[in-house]
Amino acid sequence: MNTVPEEKINLIGLNKQALEDFCISLGEKPFRATQIIKWIHQRGVSDIFQMTDLSKDLRERLAKVAEIKVPEVAEEKISEDGTRKWLIRVGEKDLVEMVLIPENNRSTLCVSSQAGCAVDCSFCATGKQGFSRNLSLDEIIGQVWIAANSFGLPREPNSRHITNVVMMGMGEPLLNFEPVVEAMNLMTDDNAYGLSKRKVTLSTSGIVPKIDELSKVTDIALTISLHAPNDELRDELVPINKKYPIQELLDSVKRYVDSCDDKRVTTIEYILIDGINDDLKHAKELSEVLEQLPSKINLIPFNAFEGSNYLKPSGNRVKRFQRYLQDKGYVTTVRSTRGDDIMAACGQLVGQVNDKTRRKERSRNQIKTKAI
Ligand code: SF4
Repeated sequence: MNTVPEEKINLIGLNKQALEDFCISLGEKPFRATQIIKWIHQRGVSDIFQMTDLSKDLRERLAKVAEIKVPEVAEEKISEDGTRKWLIRVGEKDLVEMVLIPENNRSTLCVSSQAGCAVDCSFCATGKQGFSRNLSLDEIIGQVWIAANSFGLPREPNSRHITNVVMMGMGEPLLNFEPVVEAMNLMTDDNAYGLSKRKVTLSTSGIVPKIDELSKVTDIALTISLHAPNDELRDELVPINKKYPIQELLDSVKRYVDSCDDKRVTTIEYILIDGINDDLKHAKELSEVLEQLPSKINLIPFNAFEGSNYLKPSGNRVKRFQRYLQDKGYVTTVRSTRGDDIMAACGQLVGQVNDKTRRKERSRNQIKTKAI
């Protein structure tokens, strides 16, 4: 009689506690978990037999019940400006994208947390696809693993090719709370990717209860995708605003900042769309609404994608908006467009989501924020 082999445990999908429990279940000491984490996340190893500081016997026992399975790379593109984009297969039919942006002395990796997105911001290609599913821990941290290994193997334990990670790829990270938090814990774990908490950023459209929940488990950098200075306009651009309007959102960010030990300034992301939210009256409103929160502002000129009716503002309009905010005392930067020849710029990520499961959720009542 044929027996169906039991599925092996994917070690890259276990957080530290789960890996310790797993080691204990094998009759091993919990510190083995740290050794395994180092091999996987610090050295980039995917073969258990390469873990040479584990005994041969343990490696053999491990290999019978466990494996290291990273998501498959379906395609990789490199932009003229050096930006790299990977199309990554997750599950049976979904594809997500991640982007690595090299810049002077740093490299920023933009990681996806969901296949598609239910928030449906009107300026975002991901939102136009609808939502398919949340990524698991192995699919999120697997993106960092793939990008880190792209610099060559064997990885040196202290190599820091990726200096910054932003949870700003496809999806709203706070609607996939636990796997995202666990992945960020590995990113900042000295035995894994060793990034400082200041260099791992979660960018949210403003899921207020989850911001409060986040403050109880971490103090990583938080950026807010605001994109509009008043509720009427933000309801249109970022529909989750109908559920969590600007004042509620800013109050929750203040609570988050207060819960952190340091005195920090929150980054506000603001996509500038020609004729929609880029007038001086919007800059004035923005400067007033942000008076209550120590903030710096990152302006992102809109990046076009197929099917969008919005336009990128002229350089002059962008400068005028920036100058107004600077004159009001805000540190205001303009994000340079990177990788738009390979559709890797902000708001352009599409991947591909499973038609059968995706859901278009456009209105306030349709935004079933299941995780809330
Ligand atoms: S901008 Fe972010 S939250 Fe909004 S639809 Fe796109 S991926 Fe989702």
